[in-house]
Amino acid sequence: MARYTGPVCRLCRREGEKLFLKGEKCYTEKCPVDRRPYPPGQHGQGRRPRLTEYGIHLREKQKLRRIYGVLERQFRRYYQEASRRKGVTGETLLQLLECRLDNVVYRLGFAPSRAAARQLVMHGHFTVNGKKMDIPSARVKVGDVIAVRERSRNIAMIKESVQAAQSRGVPDWLELDADGLKGTVKSLPTREQIDVRVQEHLIVEHYSR
Ligand code: SF4
Repeated sequence: MARYTGPVCRLCRREGEKLFLKGEKCYTEKCPVDRRPYPPGQHGQGRRPRLTEYGIHLREKQKLRRIYGVLERQFRRYYQEASRRKGVTGETLLQLLECRLDNVVYRLGFAPSRAAARQLVMHGHFTVNGKKMDIPSARVKVGDVIAVRERSRNIAMIKESVQAAQSRGVPDWLELDADGLKGTVKSLPTREQIDVRVQEHLIVEHYSR
């Protein structure tokens, strides 16, 4: 299962905005986007080039891909599936990404970031409907119950994250049972319930060229 393993703050600087890829830490650590507000690399301090229409679409796609930690080939598959489905393609694309198990674990507050959630899932710390599930891209459905496995309930990262999540709250489409360390998918997320700042129609235009 391939994934990006380089420095994540570099990705935010490349996109010119905070993507909050480190989750909770982004609110407590000094953010490189504030300290060095120019792209990374040798030529980064020069003027940001004016983007072409293609460039604008491409950057929006890269931004969304980076937020969910998905590589290009898999992201393209999500897009192809979204475009085959009924409804607004951009919104369906966001919904498919949002329903990834690693994202749901993060949204429920069992991990401080999507990257941490992905790792916890891969290490087999969660069950879906009572069965162990270690595939971060597994898709959750309405009614699914995602729980921390019995033997993983004392992991400090999970306990601390859940405490933080309780004060922050979870999205309306999910329900958290903090004491039971489990969460339920109440409904599929609507666009309004997905707090990701991207213009998804630009991504659709990118792939429709
Ligand atoms: Fe992005 Fe967070 Fe790093 Fe800032 S601290 S650059 S928001 S990952």
